[in-house]
Amino acid sequence: MAMIIDGKKVSEEIRNEVKEDVLDLKKTRNLVPGLAVVLVGDDPASAIYVRNKKKGCEELGIRSYEYTLSSDTSEEKLLALVDELNRNSDVNGILVQLPLPKHINEEKVINSIDPLKDVDGFHPVNVGKIVIGDDDCFCPCTPFGIQELIARTDPNIKGKHLVVVGRSNIVGKPIANMMVQKNDRANCIVTVCHTAAKDIGYYTKQADILVVAAGRPNTVTADMVKDGVMVIDVGTNRIPHPDDSSKTKLVGDVDFEGVSKKASAITPVPGGVGPMTITMLLKNTVKACRLQNGIK
Ligand code: NAP
Repeated sequence: MAMIIDGKKVSEEIRNEVKEDVLDLKKTRNLVPGLAVVLVGDDPASAIYVRNKKKGCEELGIRSYEYTLSSDTSEEKLLALVDELNRNSDVNGILVQLPLPKHINEEKVINSIDPLKDVDGFHPVNVGKIVIGDDDCFCPCTPFGIQELIARTDPNIKGKHLVVVGRSNIVGKPIANMMVQKNDRANCIVTVCHTAAKDIGYYTKQADILVVAAGRPNTVTADMVKDGVMVIDVGTNRIPHPDDSSKTKLVGDVDFEGVSKKASAITPVPGGVGPMTITMLLKNTVKACRLQNGIK
């Protein structure tokens, strides 16, 4: 039976490390990292994320600046706010909560954020730096959290075959690019598969480490993995609750029941990748403060 990779526990460990780092910056440089979070519109899920980000900042001693704009805010006004935040030296990280209302061009907004403050890691400069292997960049928070879960579960991942199911810009592509780099927390042999694969089982069966980010329940079942694989299930899917049709249940992309009998370690859903994301945003914000102040 697989070891359960406890995302809450790992997240707590990293939060403690970040808290220490924040205290150190205050003590040695009199610096307090600051994160600006911009929310446009009244999407309830986005409002919860923003609230949790603010709470996380407070817990770790990071200053947070919240901007809530109405859903009819013009693109011009949002770009003007980003420009103001780019120039504000108290703000080290800028996060514009996605998705944005349809009349606003998301790409234009992402590209307007100063890459040194792009703690979400979506600006093309940061994407390029990840591909090159330049450490002075920000990795997007979900793949960054996945990398931490892998590296802290198995400190000896050099040369292992990591297979990624999914090639989105927010999960699949960045995690593949991060894990192929020549450093202690990567150095894997990486394969990426997607819907063009005739038989994804052919690839998933070869994985020592399997990252599944397909957005579909049961994409990977027990017959598609080898014994001893480490499985990171990124999926978050709401399905009708099997015991109560008036309720829903959150499941991943992997058949947890079957796969956990063969795997050496596996993330649960919920409680695996999910708790890592905001933690990595906070870590990126402290890194941004260091980079902007020329501290390694
Ligand atoms: P996405 O943009 O929909 O991309 C899904 C990818 O999976 C696509 O590349 C798609 O291939 C591939 N795919 C889908 N079904 C497949 C199949 N049967 N076989 C092979 N490949 C398949 O999704 P995403 O944004 O990467 O997110 C993936 C999942 O992770 C979602 O459930 C999302 O909710 C979850 N997620 C969770 C967190 C978290 O914090 N826990 C964060 C982000 C995302 P094509 O490119 O060929 O279409």
